Amino acid sequence: MQLSFLISPLLSTLQMISHNIDAIKLKIAMTAQRCGRAKDSVKLVAVSKRFPSSAIKEALTAGQFHFGENYIQEAQEKYQKLGKDIHLHFIGHLQSNKAKIAAQIFSMVETVDSIKIATVLNKHLEKLDKNLDILIQVNIGCDENKSGIAPENTRDLLVEISNLPKLNPLGLMTITPFSKSPEHSRPFFRDLRILSEKLKKDQLFYDNNQVDLSMGMSNDYHIAIEEGSTLVRLGTAVFGQRSPKY
Ligand SMILES: *Cc1c(COP(=O)(O)O)cnc(C)c1O
Repeated sequence: MQLSFLISPLLSTLQMISHNIDAIKLKIAMTAQRCGRAKDSVKLVAVSKRFPSSAIKEALTAGQFHFGENYIQEAQEKYQKLGKDIHLHFIGHLQSNKAKIAAQIFSMVETVDSIKIATVLNKHLEKLDKNLDILIQVNIGCDENKSGIAPENTRDLLVEISNLPKLNPLGLMTITPFSKSPEHSRPFFRDLRILSEKLKKDQLFYDNNQVDLSMGMSNDYHIAIEEGSTLVRLGTAVFGQRSPKY
């Protein structure tokens, strides 16, 4: 982030990653404590899309084990050799024809947004005899260009998912409309939390005492934590600027 930007000429790219992770973890803990939350109540998911395995290995040496990927094939190629201590989160748009691999390689799919994809995932998980943690992706900003289920349909989807025994719905995820000003994300984060609280009262999650909210990216995660985020998905802040292709 700012600090690593200043000193980056002195450090190799790889040392910069572990430095970034330490600084981010500190900021996460301090932000949580400042608003009266436990300092370990927010998990960092390092979004490694378009970064090579060497960058992921460096993050691992800094004690980072949760990673996010947007593309099934890219994730499959990079993570095959990296061992099973890694918790891989799928954060891209999931298509039915990729659901089998997703069921195999991810520990959490954060982007379930239809009964169709939930049913396909469940079917593959039955064959694998495996349970999968999922989040429901909610289009909280009702943004036409974004995937995610409409807030008012989230309840019905969770009711239907309760009939799919291999899916553990742990909470909600959202991608807020892009804005340069982090404060613009606050009302969306708040709305997602309020929605999760309603659904929690109806006992629609896997564990209603501990419901996950995946919200907040590199430019607005401090705001997301203030609004109750439990998973922040950071790419640029951890790994630096993404190249179009690596
Ligand atoms: C790329 C991506 C991120 C990380 O974005 P940064 O701004 O680099 O932190 C988080 N969530 C999703 C869904 C993404 O696609």
